[in-house]
Amino acid sequence: MDCITIKNLEVFGNHGVFEEEKKLGQKFLVTAKLYLDLKFAGIDDDLSESVHYGKVSHLIYDHMKQNTYHLIEAAAERLARDILLTFARVKRVDIEVKKPWAPIGLPLESVSVSISRSWHTVYIAMGSNVGDREAHIDAAMEALEKKEDLNVVQVSEYVESKPYGGVDQDTFINAAAKLRTLLTPEELLMILQEIEDEEDRVRTTHWGPRTLDLDILMYDDLVLDTEQLTIPHADMQNRDFVLAPLSEIAPCLRHPILNKTINNLLSELTEKYII
Ligand code: AMP
Repeated sequence: MDCITIKNLEVFGNHGVFEEEKKLGQKFLVTAKLYLDLKFAGIDDDLSESVHYGKVSHLIYDHMKQNTYHLIEAAAERLARDILLTFARVKRVDIEVKKPWAPIGLPLESVSVSISRSWHTVYIAMGSNVGDREAHIDAAMEALEKKEDLNVVQVSEYVESKPYGGVDQDTFINAAAKLRTLLTPEELLMILQEIEDEEDRVRTTHWGPRTLDLDILMYDDLVLDTEQLTIPHADMQNRDFVLAPLSEIAPCLRHPILNKTINNLLSELTEKYII
């Protein structure tokens, strides 16, 4: 991807684990690589289609001056987040915070921390079959929209579907949404579970009735299998109530393991039931 580099911006700041570092201050050098599409800025020779590197440099300078961190890890993390939230065109940022005067009593040239942070595209599934089902899904959307590190990009129509998994219960309302987020999969799962809890979700029967169920379907093209999370969602290809709303907002999205589009998966599932 195209990139703008701000190299070794010098700031005198008060970061460090030792009290003297906070009191006396020292020199820091910040390098930021901003990844964004520069094609149209280049063709049109127009700054409004790029990012003003002067403004980004001032943001870095002010942030390093106005805050005090123990760790350059924390400075890098906050800087990356601040840049991604402030400059909408920037899709990814690499930050290096360098400390040339690190007080370790040895003649090192410098010590530095480098991180890379970016926006992620996520698809989630939503379902409810207790109480005011539409209202629970509306509430989930509203709660997600309030989060600073997350934008709701698109929401499918709400569809009615029969219960899945052999438990006798009321019909569901299901929907899918596309999100853009700075959160990790684990952070996002925590937020989804908090929202489920706010809607009085009680975890009783597996596949049983629920006021609100929120699942992560896909997170970029990440493949993850931990005790806590399976991404892509392990059973999404077998659930028409997931694939139908998802195909409305992302028909050509490709499942990274099955290497099939959502439309392909939905038509395969439909054929299976017809035969
Ligand atoms: P349920 O709410 O019944 O769908 O189950 C939620 C549990 O499944 C959570 O405790 C998660 O740790 C786990 N889980 C595994 N993969 C996912 C996923 N892709 N999205 C949401 N929850 C998941």
